[in-house]
Amino acid sequence: MQKIVRVGSAVLVPFGRRSLTGIVTAEGKALKSIVTMEGKALDAGKTRNEKRVLKEILDILDTEPAITGDQMKLAQWIADYYLCGLGEVLRAALPPGIGSSSEQRISRIKLEDPTAAEDGSMPAAAEDSPIPLSKKDKEILDALPESGSVSVKSLLLQNPSVTRSQLQRLESRGLLAIEFMLRGPRTTIRKMVIVHLSGPAAREEPGGIKQRAVLNALRHRARSNTANEGVTLDSGLPRDELLKQTGASTATVKRLQELGFVTLSEREIDRSRARTTNTEAIKPPPNHDLDPTQVNAIERIGSAIVAGRFETFLLHGVTGSGKTEVYIEALKLTRKQGKSGIILVPEISLTPQTVARFRSHFGEEIAVLHSRMSPGERFDAWRGIRAGKYPVVIGPRSAVLAPVDNLGLIVVDEEHEQSYKQFDPAPRYHARDVAVVRARQASAACVLGSATPSLESLTNAQTKKYILLSMPERVKTHGRRAKLPEVRVVDMRNRSATENGSSVLSTILSDAIEKRLLSGEQIILLQNRRGYAPTVRCEQCNWAPDCPDCSVTMIYHKSRRHLRCHYCGRTRKLPPRCPSCGNESVLQLGIGTQRVEEEILNRFPTARVARMDLDTTTFKNAHHKILDRFARGEADILLGTQMVSKGLDFGNVSLVGIIDADTGIYLPDIRAEERTFQLLTQVAGRAGRAELPGEVILQTHNPGHRVIQYAMQHDYDRFARNVLPERQALDYPPFGRIIAVLFSGPDANRVNRIALDWCREARKIDSSITILGPSPSFIGRIRKNHRSQILIKIERLRSHRGTRALIRQTNKALGNPPRNYRIAVDVDPIGLA
Ligand code: ADP
Ligand code: ZN
Ligand code: ZN
Repeated sequence: MQKIVRVGSAVLVPFGRRSLTGIVTAEGKALKSIVTMEGKALDAGKTRNEKRVLKEILDILDTEPAITGDQMKLAQWIADYYLCGLGEVLRAALPPGIGSSSEQRISRIKLEDPTAAEDGSMPAAAEDSPIPLSKKDKEILDALPESGSVSVKSLLLQNPSVTRSQLQRLESRGLLAIEFMLRGPRTTIRKMVIVHLSGPAAREEPGGIKQRAVLNALRHRARSNTANEGVTLDSGLPRDELLKQTGASTATVKRLQELGFVTLSEREIDRSRARTTNTEAIKPPPNHDLDPTQVNAIERIGSAIVAGRFETFLLHGVTGSGKTEVYIEALKLTRKQGKSGIILVPEISLTPQTVARFRSHFGEEIAVLHSRMSPGERFDAWRGIRAGKYPVVIGPRSAVLAPVDNLGLIVVDEEHEQSYKQFDPAPRYHARDVAVVRARQASAACVLGSATPSLESLTNAQTKKYILLSMPERVKTHGRRAKLPEVRVVDMRNRSATENGSSVLSTILSDAIEKRLLSGEQIILLQNRRGYAPTVRCEQCNWAPDCPDCSVTMIYHKSRRHLRCHYCGRTRKLPPRCPSCGNESVLQLGIGTQRVEEEILNRFPTARVARMDLDTTTFKNAHHKILDRFARGEADILLGTQMVSKGLDFGNVSLVGIIDADTGIYLPDIRAEERTFQLLTQVAGRAGRAELPGEVILQTHNPGHRVIQYAMQHDYDRFARNVLPERQALDYPPFGRIIAVLFSGPDANRVNRIALDWCREARKIDSSITILGPSPSFIGRIRKNHRSQILIKIERLRSHRGTRALIRQTNKALGNPPRNYRIAVDVDPIGLA
């Protein structure tokens, strides 16, 4: 097929002495309309390097454009709004490893007959060279293969004493050649070989046992196909499978092919399919009578879908109100219109449960994306989506960038979730906001669902930018309506409340656990570690183990008896005595999930505890395995960090315990209370989802705090009414907006100076701008880099666009930061940086 350059085509372009993959971003004048996605040239903010003047396109990498028209339009909006390079956005939209790039390779120049050079001049051959070869030079030449080439990088890696300049000297003397050569695409289409029987073989059987085994296996396959489907279908067998079955080798198959017994064909493999289909059984969908609130929501959303009208809906429904069911119905309508849909879920919600529910309705039409996919799986899913094979895409935030064509619906489940915002690397986008923009561009419906909407979305609903759809009650199952669980608050300041002086379990919680263990009901325990992690401290001099590279305290991991920095991963042994004063009693502080597990097992030795936290979920699919185990009833207690609070739907859970509800309330972040309220409400919603009534026990040292009070009453509306005026008074989001600029680098003073220069420059452009800081970031140092930040507050009446222009201008005026220093812009930042 002929390859044509179009907008979105991936092309190979010269870039200095290298060649890189670029994407054509505009038609007509090819100059300056290609952005490259690879190499260091694409650091955030360096728009100057990004648009390379294109001399010529070296190659076109694919017959289809790598970026669709819709994606290009969206990417341009993202680059403009989030103040990043278009190339950075396009890279985020493409699977990793796509395209080719070049590398420097080195080879010997062989001079058989040095006198035979064509122009008659004397080449600088080794023997006649006026400068004799040094021992070092000889070593280098000896390290090169007789023929062919090696990459310069690996040569330097294997020979640490060799330098680039030595190589260049030898090159200039004509002894070796350094060239840029193309490296093939790192991720490519995978194909498998299929072996077919070639027609009714009336001829005599081949002699070899292995050969006959192969033929028998193929015949067996053909017969079972006939039996199953009533027609003779020679779909053949994958060669790998055939060889495994029969113990034959590829040579056997080849021989059979030569003899005319079999034929071979190739089939593309979709690696993204392999895993999903065998781990999630496809069940028939349940048949519910929809609740009136569900019917209403579906009608409202449906009319937008059918009319092809852009509209954003905020589906505010308590946990268990049947929101997922609404998404599914809306998606069915979308498919009926022949359109496609994207369902965004927080990564944590990509449980087999959720996926299975969608799969039971949409079967093979679904592509599931998640962060643990291999590059090959990602690539195949991406190709399938682009080709229209998967008109339904489910995935975390990056799925909003998927090459879905003819979009009719985007759903953002748990829209309040922080994980929708990307921080590093750029683009620092918020997938929920991008979803709304994408829906607008595609004239699609956008549904934002949550039990605890972000105050941003709530405000947008109040100002009628979004349409509010409320589902205030849980759905009726088996003729009865599950109630939101009762929340009991236990004041942990009261010593007598606790079990034998334990700081982990109150008597009330402990009794409640015991009751469930006896009755065979299940329990979820939350210990949110954020901001309150287990560490150690010297009782005498208050010494604490700080990471030498990052300004954070190292966390104690009991199972390995070591301390670990959760930012850079550095570990150290737990010192037997205080390194500062020599005191022997180094106290363990804070309660981590491990501590809770220990206390539970002390108290209930036979309880089966499934722990889910950062430590237990590092390996592939760990999440799923833990949840599956719990779902199958093989564990009594699911204990974990905020991971346990989201999207889980286990009918047998009748108790939720919150070990310490206060963690997170006091973090220096404008959203600290909002986030804690959301977390508590979400986790409370895990109890009593089905027939069993649920109970929530919340332990706190601040029983009167409004976060605790409103969470206890499941009263989102009052919480919001209480908090919003404070945000408004300070012009904080969702009223005013914020853009953060982060400065980092190895020297603290220099970082500060760069930040100050930046502020001065910005004020020169507009003296009325409100800049807070610079001040050290919440985590002042990560991996030896000092971090400082400013917050630009954009008051309600100030122009966002104008402020973005000012930031661009400031960056441009200051030019690139010095080497190893970094300036990063974060529009609508979330959380602590
Ligand atoms: P949410 O997403 O709001 O938490 P779900 O859609 O997961 O709620 O619904 C909660 C549970 O109720 C699920 O098990 C779901 O299958 C079931 N469900 C949803 N709608 C109905 C209905 N109309 N009738 C009966 N059961 C329902
Ligand atoms: Zn560290
Ligand atoms: Zn000490």
